[in-house]
Amino acid sequence: MLDTTPVPHFIRTIIDGDLASGKHQTVATRFPPEPNGYLHIGHAKSICLNFGLAQDYQGTCNLRFDDTNPEKETEEYALAIQEDVRWLGFQWHGPVRWASDYFQALYDYAEELIRQGKAFVCDLTAEEMRAYRGTLTEKGRHSPYRDRSVEESLDLFRRMKAGEFADGSKTLRVRIDMASPNINLRDPVIYRIKRSHHIRTGDAWCIYPMYDYTHCISDALECITHSLCTLEFEDHRPLYDWVLDQLPVPSHPQQIEFSRLELHYTVTSKRKLNQLVMQHHVDGWDDPRMPTIHGMRRRGYTPEGIREFARRIGISKSENIVDMAVLESAIRDDLESKVPRVMAVVRPLKVVLTNYQDGVTAGRAAGFHPHHPEFGEREVPIGREIWIEQDDFSEAPPAGWQRLTVGGEARLRYSYVIKCDEAVKDAEGKVVELRCSIDHETLGKNPVGRKVKGVIHWLSASHALAAEVRLYDRLFTDPEPDGHKDRDFLEFLNPDSLTVAQAWVEAAVRDAAPETRYQFERIGYFCADRYDHLPGGKLVFNRTVTLKDSWAK
Ligand code: ATP
Ligand code: MG
Repeated sequence: MLDTTPVPHFIRTIIDGDLASGKHQTVATRFPPEPNGYLHIGHAKSICLNFGLAQDYQGTCNLRFDDTNPEKETEEYALAIQEDVRWLGFQWHGPVRWASDYFQALYDYAEELIRQGKAFVCDLTAEEMRAYRGTLTEKGRHSPYRDRSVEESLDLFRRMKAGEFADGSKTLRVRIDMASPNINLRDPVIYRIKRSHHIRTGDAWCIYPMYDYTHCISDALECITHSLCTLEFEDHRPLYDWVLDQLPVPSHPQQIEFSRLELHYTVTSKRKLNQLVMQHHVDGWDDPRMPTIHGMRRRGYTPEGIREFARRIGISKSENIVDMAVLESAIRDDLESKVPRVMAVVRPLKVVLTNYQDGVTAGRAAGFHPHHPEFGEREVPIGREIWIEQDDFSEAPPAGWQRLTVGGEARLRYSYVIKCDEAVKDAEGKVVELRCSIDHETLGKNPVGRKVKGVIHWLSASHALAAEVRLYDRLFTDPEPDGHKDRDFLEFLNPDSLTVAQAWVEAAVRDAAPETRYQFERIGYFCADRYDHLPGGKLVFNRTVTLKDSWAK
């Protein structure tokens, strides 16, 4: 069992303080994805943080779609996101919320800002606006439209909404400070004109609010207590607070930033993941090589394992890139005591047991897990011909070899000790078959007069079932594929990220439902493919993760 005790971090310290001082009686968080792609492992960190805090403090966590960029957002993405949050083991508070639920309220607040003299309609083009904005070292300049009267701005803003002006021809901006060292405060745009069909509001609106303006007000309307976001929003916090300070909103949430999760050998940017999908470098958002939640699920990762990973990496403000090994070991640790163990042979080599005797040579019952007798047992049958792994035989073995070699012995897992008498080769000299003899005195017993240390997995050829096994490796060959200034991340795609093998598996897995997980002894953890595996028919297993240690070297 995994330890699920919460790990302390600075956000918990802030919350503890707020509860102790009486600033808040309860904790209300939210997870605010934009439905413009599938969620990835970075989002999983944010989900575990926001929903996890709500759970630990008996508070609430809302799911709110940030749907303010209609041209990139789809219903498919919104549905996949809801599925992922639930699959990770969380349930949002009340209905799914959408920033678009607040479009009218946001509009009314914008008129309020205009009436207060704090917002104005600006006619600068995007390019002009950039020139006026200034730089990090240079102050910005006032827009020539900054001093428009309240009446004129109000009239123009209403006409923007009514569709009188072309896309991009006008914006609504707040009047803060063009000399601020924080560029986000240099009269930022809060509304733009964009004729684009919206997944929720259709064509009702042709003006859309900007993220910074929408997010803080949505948080306030939902009475979020702690609005947690990633560090790149630190410089936006003064704007978050400024907007809320001007308006009669029901609450003023506290924005707190933490560092993003980055993982070695992959990318966690929806834009880049989208590119991988659209350009067919992978088989979709749920390709098991993708760091998406859909991809990880299809590969066989468990929600518990992903949550454990989030617990282990913790929450802080320091930027760091986490090694894939941390994620893999959390998954392994979860699967270790959870899934049944069976045998599969991925790179088969035929072995003929020359002294096999019908009615004498016997199969044996074996448990599905050494520490969990309650998982039950199955019969492991034997026959004259068996499959072993090519790697478990060597013609010229290194010192200390405990597996098969001509003249050497090894135990078949759950069965007899066999001795290799001969290696049969083809015309090219490649070993295509072994001829071995059984020591019939060794079923469930140690051999007499000698020690046989090596144990190998195997399958009776006449009982084994054919299965397609998909072996996944890292998607990129570079630890930071998007960290190179003059090279595109696609240059680092690993051509060997997927190997498909025609393997043999135990009959015990014949009727496994899609998404059933197993340990294939000595090989790794595998999961019946969510889509392509057909119980009783075509069997398809994805390698979730390799085993750290195999029990026979
Ligand atoms: P991307 O850069 O992949 O497009 P995003 O931040 O634009 O991500 P959103 O859908 O806006 O994607 O993210 C929803 C929430 O998930 C936000 O609160 C965001 O801060 C958080 N989040 C996104 N990526 C990460 C990450 N790598 N690590 C931690 N949290 C993340
Ligand atoms: Mg975002």
